[in-house]
Amino acid sequence: MELKNKRVLVVGLGKSGIAAALFLRDRGARVTVSDARSAQELEREIPALLEAGVMVETDGHGLLTFRGQDLIVVSPGVPYDTPELAQSRAFGIPVIGELELACRFLQGQITAVTGSNGKTTTTSLIGKIFADCGRDTLVGGNIGVPVIELVQRTSVGTMNVLEVSSFQLETVEAFAPHIAVVLNITPDHLDRHGSFENYAAMKARITSKQTHADFLVLNAEDKPTQMVAGKTQAQVFWFSGRRPIRQGAFVHGESIVFVPREGGPTEPVMPVAEIPLKGAHNVDNVLAAVCAARLGGVPAEKIREAVRSFQAVEHRLEFVAEVSGVAYYNDSKATNVDATKKALEAFPGGVHLILGGKDKDSDYTELADLIRKRVKTVATIGSAAEKIERQLAGVTKIVSAGTLESAVQTTAATAAAGDVVLLAPACSSFDQFDNYEHRGRSFKEIVRQLVGARSRPGVEN
Ligand code: ADP
Repeated sequence: MELKNKRVLVVGLGKSGIAAALFLRDRGARVTVSDARSAQELEREIPALLEAGVMVETDGHGLLTFRGQDLIVVSPGVPYDTPELAQSRAFGIPVIGELELACRFLQGQITAVTGSNGKTTTTSLIGKIFADCGRDTLVGGNIGVPVIELVQRTSVGTMNVLEVSSFQLETVEAFAPHIAVVLNITPDHLDRHGSFENYAAMKARITSKQTHADFLVLNAEDKPTQMVAGKTQAQVFWFSGRRPIRQGAFVHGESIVFVPREGGPTEPVMPVAEIPLKGAHNVDNVLAAVCAARLGGVPAEKIREAVRSFQAVEHRLEFVAEVSGVAYYNDSKATNVDATKKALEAFPGGVHLILGGKDKDSDYTELADLIRKRVKTVATIGSAAEKIERQLAGVTKIVSAGTLESAVQTTAATAAAGDVVLLAPACSSFDQFDNYEHRGRSFKEIVRQLVGARSRPGVEN
């Protein structure tokens, strides 16, 4: 792709938009960036862009800005169908995302991981396995490092392990990972994608440009994911925590095994008990990672070693502290109902659950069964509280806590030794926090204060 002297518009100044703008400028393009936020809100971002010779438009997008461009690069946060983008497409201007731009320049092999839940954990795990066995490995994408920032550091031998979201897949065209993984497809982001079918179709785009020489790893226990098998040219490998698989990874007795081809040998990989992460969903993540790593040429013993020393990623069922016999877990990244279900499944009972935040058109009644069986109290926070209370009325004791601080204090006061206080809110965080990391760190801070208060002399435990 020739960029020199091309007129390129970057829409949306998030992390990946800024990285894309600087990359394009570096390659000699005439770059304009446009963002809906005000100049004041963007005061930290703007100077470096101007310094690099990028033109900046703030406070919304002028229709004229979109005219006469050779290429438009949109950030994942920007809806696909804004009037400006629709008009640009109608004029025949290519509209792509930062991931698509990056993959035109990336050298080496791409392993891409998508799914509604488990992307970051599985991406990190695959990255660790490749890195631990001495491969030149780069990890990026939705996980926090824009793919475009990796480009400079890649060479033909690089293993690029990328987390890709449905928003990013919305704007890919030539993106063709050698190994693609779809972990699961459960309702999420329906406010953005309109329907579950649209959302599932976006996830399936991960494989649309794969060929027979590529591999697609799919979850045999997840129906919507199985459908993706009908849309690929790639060789399909399956994973399952429940049943034997003819080609792929599964749990056999107490161990994870891998079958490299139909009718081939069953290779032992590792005992399930050696996985250092909580919950059956993490066994799924390991199974998917085993497939990807074996397909990437890593021997089973090396995979076992790397998995054994893997640590839970922050904010994913992360153990925080034990206070007066009560264990506190931070699963702030459980931003949808399915992730909260998986978190609950990791604990047999005695759970005090903190739920709420910004609603994403979710159906919380889906939590009712698990809550009935495993949860002693629910404390609600944020703007979704009223909906959650309404949908879960009568299922268990619900306390309307309002804030995270009050939720921790209320649950701490009622929890008994042996119980668990779990932040797995099933909502996004943007009503009360900057993001889920901010929410998770606040939770940990509040819990640490509790530890401090309880360990001070004279304070009753
Ligand atoms: P993502 O990057 O897709 O959001 P993470 O690894 O960050 O995935 O995990 C997000 C949340 O989903 C966590 O709260 C975790 O408990 C839950 N989770 C992780 N893996 C899975 C899985 N395979 N299936 C369902 N839920 C999962």
